[in-house]
Amino acid sequence: MLQDAFGRRFSYLRLSITDVCNFRCNYCLPDGYECDTDRNFLSLDEIKQTAKAFAQLGTEKIRITGGEPSLRKDLPQIIQACKQTHGIKTVALTSNGYKLEEQLPLWLDAGLDALNISIDSFDPRQFQAITGSSKLDTILSGIDNALNAGFKNIKINTVLMREHNAHDLQSFFEYVKDKPISLRFIELMQTGDNKEFYQQQHVSGQHIKNQLLVNGWLPKIRSKNAGPAQVFTNPDYQGTIGLIMPYEKGFCDTCNRLRISALGKLHLCLFSEEGLSIREYLQHDDVTDVKAALVSLLGNKKATHYLHEGFTGATKHLSMLGG
Ligand code: SAM
Ligand code: SF4
Repeated sequence: MLQDAFGRRFSYLRLSITDVCNFRCNYCLPDGYECDTDRNFLSLDEIKQTAKAFAQLGTEKIRITGGEPSLRKDLPQIIQACKQTHGIKTVALTSNGYKLEEQLPLWLDAGLDALNISIDSFDPRQFQAITGSSKLDTILSGIDNALNAGFKNIKINTVLMREHNAHDLQSFFEYVKDKPISLRFIELMQTGDNKEFYQQQHVSGQHIKNQLLVNGWLPKIRSKNAGPAQVFTNPDYQGTIGLIMPYEKGFCDTCNRLRISALGKLHLCLFSEEGLSIREYLQHDDVTDVKAALVSLLGNKKATHYLHEGFTGATKHLSMLGG
């Protein structure tokens, strides 16, 4: 099992398969995707080798992310390859939902277990102002289709922003009233490119936590393998509300995830310095060298991100790494 110097064990891999995106979220790619990296993304074969090596080191869950992963035509094959890797129990996808309605059947056939869709506003005009996309309706009907198909493992990610959505929490609560969906508010994080935006828009999740508690929501007991969200339930609501507060003390203590970029670099933290390439080891059937490289590189993982001190590492925006 992959374990770092602080005793944290890593059973979860976030695998970015592209850094290209068709949205221009104001906190991530406000000017849209700019082709400033080599676009030689990991091939399907390299992805299979990566999944195999991680699985042999105890990884049980792979989240496919991006950029926008659904822009890759071979996404269904990638889902299937991860799912068929011995030892991988869960394959999840994070997407902006742009292709959800059209591609959901392909993703489900490929074996997708869990889906996170990012929605920062339920008001189409505000949604368009945030993302540059007018597709909110299509995204919402894609989610309805997934629910109607009996697919229950759906989460919505909402980045909290002072002026764009934090004043209208009611529409988010309403959305989960009759839907078995877990909606999670994520505190806006500072990256290399968004310092000014961050300073204007960052709000602490504490404000929501207080609102939830006075409105009858109850904190759910955290299970051993739970992710970073603090989850709240309410008997009057089918769905749940989660809070992801990366600036909270102790946030990194339970870190259980590692990241591989679309160019095959290991990132020990969302906010580490340059990634560490494992690509040269992915060219053979035998994954012994990849595993040795992963174990050795993990020795450098730090106890925490230093975001509180404004340190964002080499991460210009999260579409580089998938959040
Ligand atoms: N394009 C896909 C999407 O938007 O779901 C996957 C990649 S995106 C980088 C993954 C998640 O990171 C999204 O939920 C997005 O809202 C979130 N994210 C991006 N930049 C962020 C930031 N600066 N702070 C907090 N969350 C961020
Ligand atoms: Fe694209 Fe996702 Fe970044 Fe929005 S958050 S610009 S959808 S990568």
